Amino acid sequence: MGSRQVTSWHGKNITVAGLGVSGISAARALAGLGAVVTVVDNGDGDAHRARAAELAQDGVRVRLGRLDDGGHAGEVLPEGTELVVTSPGWKPDSPLFTAAAAAGVDVVGDVEIAWLLRATGQERRAAAGAPRREPAPWLAVTGTNGKTTTVQMLASILKAAGLRTAAVGNIGTPIIDVVLGEQEYDVLAVELSSYQLHWAPSLRVHSGAVLNLAPDHLDWHGSMEAYAADKGRIYEGNTVACVYNVADKATEDLVVEADVEEGCRAIGFTLGAPGPSMLGVVDGILVDRAFVENRQKNAQELAEVADVNPPAPHNIANALAAAALARAFGVEPRAVRDGLRDFRPDAHRVAHVAEVASVVYVDDSKATNTHAAEASLAAFEPVVWIAGGLAKGATFDELVQKSAKRLRGVVLIGADRALIADALARHAPEVPVVDLGRTDTGAMLAAVREAAALAEPGDTVLLAPACASMDMFANYNKRGDAFADAVRELAAEDAADTA
Ligand code: ADP
Repeated sequence: MGSRQVTSWHGKNITVAGLGVSGISAARALAGLGAVVTVVDNGDGDAHRARAAELAQDGVRVRLGRLDDGGHAGEVLPEGTELVVTSPGWKPDSPLFTAAAAAGVDVVGDVEIAWLLRATGQERRAAAGAPRREPAPWLAVTGTNGKTTTVQMLASILKAAGLRTAAVGNIGTPIIDVVLGEQEYDVLAVELSSYQLHWAPSLRVHSGAVLNLAPDHLDWHGSMEAYAADKGRIYEGNTVACVYNVADKATEDLVVEADVEEGCRAIGFTLGAPGPSMLGVVDGILVDRAFVENRQKNAQELAEVADVNPPAPHNIANALAAAALARAFGVEPRAVRDGLRDFRPDAHRVAHVAEVASVVYVDDSKATNTHAAEASLAAFEPVVWIAGGLAKGATFDELVQKSAKRLRGVVLIGADRALIADALARHAPEVPVVDLGRTDTGAMLAAVREAAALAEPGDTVLLAPACASMDMFANYNKRGDAFADAVRELAAEDAADTA
């Protein structure tokens, strides 16, 4: 499909797949530009109907649930459709998209629409009295893990440099609303999921980073190759820098394969000493050997490892990636340091909960896959690991092999705990394992008590489940909250005992 100019949306017949947050945002925006918009969704519960009624006031047609002919609204391409706008989560082999392909109709996502609407947003703001200027460039981040954290660090650094910015994309306000909104930005820090990249063929960002690549969402993409190729789209047409992870060769391969603008540079980040055109770490200092004069000989100090919050290895990697994108945009070293110091991670991401009886309790409930859990286990030693939940087809051998030497003990909960127990029996038979055999919500308190019994003074008890939470909790937030509540109960008991 390639790069494409849309001259007018007026009268264009557009079908939006999905009546969720991004679908509603796309439908409203496009109807506001004069397009003839139909939203389709298989659901037709009360919430769907209420949203449909609201959208009707904006002139958007909504088709819900089962149609008269017995088919489902979300599976049938409305007649006359010229473009389909999809929502995250809709699989590429959904019947609606098969029908679109058969009819020669393009399918794109919200990020593509936002990208195409940037000039429209500028015109609107200029019409409202803002100075006429080019649309804000995008600095973009993708990867299996660390996207949200890195984009937030990047936004914090850009703000510290006095730039008007926001963290958007797979996070916060829908990106179409940001692009068309009243607020002027100098630059945007954009988090992009593999789904969003898949459906954004004409996206061409200023600079992009792939943090890491591990198997995830393979049911959606079909294969690891297809997943990697979609992540790699972030580099297509980059103008200034393609940022890759030196420790993850697959990310560098994607840079090599990308078709970029003349003069665009490959910039690596590493937890070791950086070579030329890299950012890295030397003696506890984050240094830049990419955006400096005479990079063969010189390096620029950016910040201290202690400025990164929390200073776990994977998070230092995130900070280096954020710094690389900011430096590619011309941000001064001091703003990198100040931005990293100002940054506070979202809840449940390697969050320090409490210290009880000289044991530190850490909540990384957001570690919902093995790659994330491996990164967080690597930050602590010795560690009592609380794990388990829904495995989503993952295997645990590699994770256990890499982490075995750090483990004081393991407490298992959740539906797929046997998969982890088996991997532990194979690769770490000497590590004590307590299998609680429970999937009820109250099991978390029991898990924390078992972990406390295994831990010795100076150890860390880490909740890093390597699994999704939905077998026991509504989401990973609730799982993390349950852990924190259990730790506080333990702390209260400990205080009562020692009083
Ligand atoms: P995402 O937006 O990609 O899901 P988050 O920043 O929300 O990423 O972090 C998700 C999980 O991944 C957390 O559990 C965190 O500990 C872990 N994580 C963060 N950064 C990295 C990284 N660079 N490598 C591996 N795991 C990471």
